[in-house]
Amino acid sequence: MLLQEQLIHCGVEVVSSFEKANFCIVNSCTVTQNADADCRQFIRRITRTNPQTRIIITGCYALRASEEIYSACDKNSRVVVIPEEERIFSYLGFSLITNHSSLITVFNGRTRAFVKIQDGCDAFCSYCIVPYVRSKLWSREPGEIITEVRNLVSNGYKEIVLTGIRLGKYQAIWMRHGILDLVDLLVELEKIKGLYRIRLSSLEVNEINERLLKLIANSEKICHHLHIPLQSGDDRILRLMNRQYKTEEFSEKIRQIRNYVPDIGVTTDIIVGFPGEDEERFFSSYQFVERVEFSRIHIFPYSMRPGTVAATLSFQVPAKIKRERMEKFVVLECRLRNKFKQKFINQKMKVLLDKEEKDGTFSGFTSNYIRVYANRGGRNETLGLKIS
Ligand code: SF4
Repeated sequence: MLLQEQLIHCGVEVVSSFEKANFCIVNSCTVTQNADADCRQFIRRITRTNPQTRIIITGCYALRASEEIYSACDKNSRVVVIPEEERIFSYLGFSLITNHSSLITVFNGRTRAFVKIQDGCDAFCSYCIVPYVRSKLWSREPGEIITEVRNLVSNGYKEIVLTGIRLGKYQAIWMRHGILDLVDLLVELEKIKGLYRIRLSSLEVNEINERLLKLIANSEKICHHLHIPLQSGDDRILRLMNRQYKTEEFSEKIRQIRNYVPDIGVTTDIIVGFPGEDEERFFSSYQFVERVEFSRIHIFPYSMRPGTVAATLSFQVPAKIKRERMEKFVVLECRLRNKFKQKFINQKMKVLLDKEEKDGTFSGFTSNYIRVYANRGGRNETLGLKIS
């Protein structure tokens, strides 16, 4: 979105389909092998639809494997790989004006806007490619974030989701105020008039401290929702993954979080079929997840990334077993999600309607991340709804 907005400021017209485009910019991701394959497939689709268009590939996949992208492309396709976004401007003949063009003011048709405040990770989890392409931790200047959020609020956005690869590592200097961490930044953002909600996209468990929990507990604006990736509920697998915690520390932190914020929704990510995950390890992971009672779980089958430590581990789990384990987790996820929702039956909760469904109804989320569908009411309204 930022790139799009900057290009619009440079005078570029954004069109609705590839057929009409002189240039297509693909912001690639390389987090899994599937993401790489999706990107290559997408490039082929653009080339088929509009052979004349020039395709610019940027983002993490471009940074990690430009040669792989070039060799996967049709000889006649007009593809150029430019990993660094800033260079796209000079390639297109523009000079990038950073002041106001680096601030996003509009997201297409949503009440929720995403604001990136941090980038980079140096944790080197054994399955993850991110530190190989973005190991440098970077935090955005607070004044710039505040201005961007103010602009979004004045354009009608009510919920701001703060994003970053390691949000909890946010740390930046702000004139007069000195060094700000994530909690300090949240305190500043809370002061913005008209901003209704602030949501944190994801935090590592050891980045959650009492200061943050006290702030969430006492805040009218910060959502009662934390997404904390667990990845596995088995200590041996966590060690193989090079995750920096054990299950006991994780469950103790969840207990502390719920003490401070009893109605909080705690969501997570789980990887199934990591190398070495035998039946026993799988069930210990499954049982831990069941005990923690997450309110929503994103489940991923382990996907081997060449170049990572995990790709070299023996005891890779066959695809069929991964699928079976995925299915077990999907059933568990559904049960836990419903159990969490049941706690709020007959309670009035505020819902920010964000999305228009195909049948004309609206849907949105509560502060603690329960999705609610509404037959009446309009977009941009905050309604008190009963969940039943
Ligand atoms: S914390 Fe681990 S999984 Fe997350 S981005 Fe960093 S290395 Fe990857």
